[in-house]
Amino acid sequence: MQVSPILVWFRNDLRTLDHAPLYWAAQRKIPIIALYCIDPQDFETSSIGNFPRIAGFRAQFLLESLQDLEAELKTLGGELWVELGKAEKIIPQYVEKYNIQSIYFYKAIGGYEKQIEEKVIKYLQKWPVEINSFWGHSLYMPQDLPFLLENTPDRFTDFRQTVEPGTIIHPPLSKPSAIVAFTVEENKPQQSTYKSFLSNKAQKLPYFVTSPLFRFQGGQTAALARINTYFWETQNLKNYKLTRNGLLGDNYSSQLSPYLALGCLSPRWIYAQIEEFEKKIVKNESTYWLFFELLWRDFFYFIFAKHGNRIFQAGGIKQMEIESIPNTQYFEAWIQGKTGYPLVDAAMRELANTGYISNRARQNVASFLVKNLELPWLWGASWFESLLVDYDVSSNYGNWNYIAGVGNDPRGFRYFNVTKQAEEYDPQAEYIKYWLPELQRIPVPKIYLPSQLTSLEQKKYQVEIGKTYPAPIVEFEASIKKSEINYKKAILATQGQVRNSRIRKFVKH
Ligand SMILES: Cc1cc2nc3c(=O)[nH]c(=O)nc-3n(C[C@H](O)[C@H](O)[C@H](O)COP(=O)(O)OP(=O)(O)OC[C@H]3O[C@@H](n4cnc5c(N)ncnc54)[C@H](O)[C@@H]3O)c2cc1C
Repeated sequence: MQVSPILVWFRNDLRTLDHAPLYWAAQRKIPIIALYCIDPQDFETSSIGNFPRIAGFRAQFLLESLQDLEAELKTLGGELWVELGKAEKIIPQYVEKYNIQSIYFYKAIGGYEKQIEEKVIKYLQKWPVEINSFWGHSLYMPQDLPFLLENTPDRFTDFRQTVEPGTIIHPPLSKPSAIVAFTVEENKPQQSTYKSFLSNKAQKLPYFVTSPLFRFQGGQTAALARINTYFWETQNLKNYKLTRNGLLGDNYSSQLSPYLALGCLSPRWIYAQIEEFEKKIVKNESTYWLFFELLWRDFFYFIFAKHGNRIFQAGGIKQMEIESIPNTQYFEAWIQGKTGYPLVDAAMRELANTGYISNRARQNVASFLVKNLELPWLWGASWFESLLVDYDVSSNYGNWNYIAGVGNDPRGFRYFNVTKQAEEYDPQAEYIKYWLPELQRIPVPKIYLPSQLTSLEQKKYQVEIGKTYPAPIVEFEASIKKSEINYKKAILATQGQVRNSRIRKFVKH
């Protein structure tokens, strides 16, 4: 008879390198069941609109990442089991069925994933099961931070200046040298079940991975290949600080975010590669800047740990209700890239066709949705959640909070002037022309404001405003002015609420 196995519960950590739960479980040389659960409900329609919570790109990326993990584990002697169902139901069944003696996993920071984990732990407390949970999605460990999680500074600069000088970043763990697989003859999940479930989702959802533009291949192997290209072959990392605001192509930024989001790579592993690059090739502002961006990722991670579900509420972490208008026509125009503002439209079409857009594009389309269209920011965040191959709960909702003015931006009312941004970051209009072929014949600088073309020019450049390309759906300056007024009203109301709650407290005491 086999000894009672260990369960390693995989979630957003689909890797074997620098994987603490797998590493420490393997050290015990006891049979391991490596389990991943897919909850079909996660693929249902979003509460915001008629689109799935997880769309095709994400389903395909997950499928590839699981297949890669399966292959990786096999080379170590192990096996990946994938179940369709809720982890909080499946894990207790496994504990009973296989007499699991201990469970190893990475902790979630908050939200829905944390709730699942709490349900699992609650159940396991009834059984003699050892629970080994680890913190591992960030560069820094909470126990090494110079403050308690609940005291995480709310301003990025304060966070960075506090953690950077003396906080240790632990070196990554290696792969386990071998895994003892747990073997059973019967009732093992069929691998074909999850594969056909995910490929079905990938194909049937509104945006297809069959698009020739879908570029990201999921899994640790592809992640390592990307590091190899970006760091070592092309050495593009050398120029990251200069190129990182680019819009078009593969090499303006690391494009490691999808791998970080599903944990195909750990940030500590990337950090170790940056250090190696600095030793072997060059240490400059660019190498520092990639680390700086990883700090942003950590920042939003710790902010989520601190503020919890507030990041999903309209009032955000500031609990500040800014007026918005639930105009579904505007939302549809934004989604389809038909707002009449070329930079916004190009970016939204790229997102719909690839599941990815650059940071510069994200900032612009998010600002436009909130500050010009005056739509609820949660609508935009949900659309991103559905499509982005690199969707990450804390980075997505943290950045949307920030841009919507209800998060960590300390600088009052701000917006992106999408036309000026296009002139600055797409000076030859290559990005706009790539995604909006209907504007291809318009020269720079006229292309940035196609609605201002005369009818003669429209004829000359073969575009018809209002027909082949939309007229602007809102007037830029007027909508910004209105948003600013709403923002100021919200500030006054929030200050009033704080004052009133202080008075109430005073009266109570
Ligand atoms: C509205 C909005 C929503 C976003 N949603 C997500 C999301 O769901 N998932 C996600 O990973 N990033 C998100 N970002 C952050 C950022 O746009 C992406 O991380 C970045 O574009 C990914 O491309 P890259 O890997 O080439 O980044 P690089 O420029 O190469 O940066 C390296 C890494 O640093 C981290 N990083 C960089 N910028 C940020 C940032 N602003 N916030 C947090 N981490 C950052 C990422 O992990 C990234 O992979 C969002 C930004 C905005 C404005």
